[in-house]
Amino acid sequence: MEPDCLFCKIVAGEIPADIVYETDDTLAFRDINPQAPTHILIIPRLHIARINDIEEEHRHLVGGLYTAARDIAVAEGLADDGYRVVMNCNEAAGQTVFHIHLHLLGGRRLRWPPG
Ligand code: AMP
Ligand code: ZN
Repeated sequence: MEPDCLFCKIVAGEIPADIVYETDDTLAFRDINPQAPTHILIIPRLHIARINDIEEEHRHLVGGLYTAARDIAVAEGLADDGYRVVMNCNEAAGQTVFHIHLHLLGGRRLRWPPG
């Protein structure tokens, strides 16, 4: 755990979150500032700051973020219509919380390319 990391604090239960899914390795909760009717963040419990910091040993953990996204999409009723899963890396892409997280967005028509 990184003491100054917001998402580590959510993992530790120090900051409340609307948790929708959890496994031994991953946690998912609703985004506090949703950009779509469904906007869920899926994170590893382990602190990894950015995509750039993903190591070979994290392969299974990172894969687990996607299987979580798949299961949550079904639970949220998004699987058939469609949804988007995206991870930002560093400032130019809009990363503001430096603990990797997949955004799962759905429930409306999503434009492409993103802004
Ligand atoms: P990013 O800009 O890709 O780093 O995404 C960070 C996301 O975290 C943003 O969509 C924020 O709205 C969201 N966020 C920030 N603080 C919280 C919080 N306490 N609980 C839930 N989501 C949060
Ligand atoms: Zn963290």
